[in-house]
Amino acid sequence: MTDAAGTASAVLETAARITVLTGAGISTDSGIPDFRGPGGVWTKNPRAERLSTIEAYLGDPDVRRQAWQGRLRHSAWTARPNPAHLALVALERAGRLRCIATQNIDGLHQAAGNAPDLVLELHGTLHRVVCMACGDRTPMPAALDRVRAGEADPPCRRCGGILKSATISFGQPLEESVLRAAADAVVDADAVLVIGSSLSVHPAAGLVGIAADAAVPVIIVNAEPTPYDPRSVAVIREPIGDAVPRLVDAALSRSGRQPATARRRDPCRGGGVTSK
Ligand code: NAD
Repeated sequence: MTDAAGTASAVLETAARITVLTGAGISTDSGIPDFRGPGGVWTKNPRAERLSTIEAYLGDPDVRRQAWQGRLRHSAWTARPNPAHLALVALERAGRLRCIATQNIDGLHQAAGNAPDLVLELHGTLHRVVCMACGDRTPMPAALDRVRAGEADPPCRRCGGILKSATISFGQPLEESVLRAAADAVVDADAVLVIGSSLSVHPAAGLVGIAADAAVPVIIVNAEPTPYDPRSVAVIREPIGDAVPRLVDAALSRSGRQPATARRRDPCRGGGVTSK
């Protein structure tokens, strides 16, 4: 075992409440490419980044048509949770998961079996559609059926406005209540486990700094260096599919230092849990 892996295991073994921050790297083993890893969508095609800005989406019908075609073909529709996702379900079942704050839009934590109220989707979800004019939210499959039937850029059925996946594009603010709940969850944890993020997208990446400022130990599992490595107690540069199940096994080999509170299952939002 490396020094970093030993430190990480020791921290997690005694942590009663673990908050997990995930990024695209946890889903690459499920067949969904990340953005900035070696096989990432933007590493291979830097122009694709433009499709993810709200300005381009709202201002250019061609960008919207391309975005709908991308949604039709998205790998999330066939992806299945992998062993790292399943390890986080084991953590929840053992009463040791405070919350998962994910930057992912793929819904794989919920598909794996994590309770939806313990998953904070910082960047929204691909599984819903939102009208940019009236705010109406509808399921994605119905919109994709319209695209398949020939509507290249389907308008809102209620008001005629521009429809978009309910994800946060660059230039759009995050939902404040979700971000606040995530900030609460990192300071209210005994450890923060970061999995598969380049930690280059803010404000999500800033959650790591918030945890470190509150003296909550941070463990990072990521193949490549991140700007927050110096603020962590351990950086594990191994494949997520190996490292995460092993770390969770280590965490579950001991009961955490406050079993009574640890086994209380609180939602990440509501129930007074997130108000400090
Ligand atoms: P990112 O692409 O910036 O970084 C992913 C990191 O994960 C990289 O540093 C890469 O080296 C590492 N990584 C990938 N696979 C790994 C593996 N098997 N083992 C170890 N490390 C691995 O992703 P990000 O930090 O999440 O930020 C990108 C943005 O893209 C987010 O806002 C997210 O919403 C979005 N995104 C989401 C998905 C998804 O939902 N699955 C996919 C792509 C992008």
